[in-house]
Amino acid sequence: MKKFIVVGSGITGSVIARNLADAGFLVSVYEKRNHIGGNMYDYEKDGILIHKYGPHIFHTSKENVYEYMSKFWKLNNFKNIVEGYVDNKLVPIPFNFKSIDICFEEKAEEIKNKLLNLYPNQDTVTILELRKNNDPLIKKVAEFVYKNLFLNYTTKMWNLKPDEIDDSVTARIPVVLSYRNTYFKDKYEGLPEEGYTKTFEKILDHKNIEVKLNTDVTKLIKFKNNKIFIDDENETLIYTGPLDKLFNDKFGSLDYRSLHFEFDTLSQEHFQKTAVVNYPADPKMTRITEYKNMTFQSDKTKTIISKEFPGTYNEKSDKWNEPYYPLATEQARTKYQQYFNYAKQFDNLFICGRMGLYRYINMDQAIDEALTKSKEILEYARKK
Ligand code: UDP
Repeated sequence: MKKFIVVGSGITGSVIARNLADAGFLVSVYEKRNHIGGNMYDYEKDGILIHKYGPHIFHTSKENVYEYMSKFWKLNNFKNIVEGYVDNKLVPIPFNFKSIDICFEEKAEEIKNKLLNLYPNQDTVTILELRKNNDPLIKKVAEFVYKNLFLNYTTKMWNLKPDEIDDSVTARIPVVLSYRNTYFKDKYEGLPEEGYTKTFEKILDHKNIEVKLNTDVTKLIKFKNNKIFIDDENETLIYTGPLDKLFNDKFGSLDYRSLHFEFDTLSQEHFQKTAVVNYPADPKMTRITEYKNMTFQSDKTKTIISKEFPGTYNEKSDKWNEPYYPLATEQARTKYQQYFNYAKQFDNLFICGRMGLYRYINMDQAIDEALTKSKEILEYARKK
């Protein structure tokens, strides 16, 4: 019987493992860490559920993704509402009409009317687009938002100016042309009521799946002709980790941004009003998350917050040793492409996921692509 090895138990690896197992194949999932779930992993600290790798808020408009995940989780009613300190005032982020009211006071009405006239039938406008506008008042607003919301935050997040990274990155947080104050505008949003880790336990709970934790496959990998394998050449490898590690840094290390989190347990019911508060002006920290505000746990005596500090990924760093974000520059992508092209020679290898494909994608995109990839792998398996 054909054997599949899935490397990585994050959302991509777990969904693919489950689909192969459901189709009757035996799957071994190899995980380097001491837990499943990738960066979605959550656990209880002092009785409060926290996200080890920072806040993960699921949102999607993809019906197929929503339907598939509903087999494993029930989402709570959390909707992400973010505020941030802009020019020392706490305002809604994305920057919206209320943010304009707060920051521009007597000019606010004129600004909002102009925006509605300039961008009719448009729900949002990206900061890069807004900066191209020639109207003097709108230009002033665009420069204000650029300077106070994007420039410093993006520079500390990526170590690059907003115009040095791919436009799609800042486009994730456009200026909203209404009073809508939700961070996302997808049809479905929330956190799994039982948590992410419990969800992964359910996905991987199948008689055809075995999970091996604390196993770094990059140390076990063998190459022979056009095959890549661990035990024997008939295996099919589904790899969701960073490609430089699979090939022993052959073409140099890939560039990632990393995050360092400082968690604090505080003896108070709440620390902040919303789950996430952004600090664009802070020299090092990007945001503070209060987990109870997204899980709705009701402990009156304490709460847990995490402060988020971005940095350059380096596996030897004491703070920034996990790759979180593939760098969205052409140079970084070109380096990655070398690995991807090299990998094509192995005909029993499938590369997928945010790490494997070196793309800044959300959880729902990862699930959607894992569902498509599962079909492709099953077709391949049935043909062999
Ligand atoms: N961003 C910013 N200021 C903010 C929020 C976001 O400049 O207050 C920019 C920054 O470049 C960031 C990107 O928008 O990396 C995407 O933000 P998002 O909140 O989607 O990042 P994620 O939650 O994926 O880390």
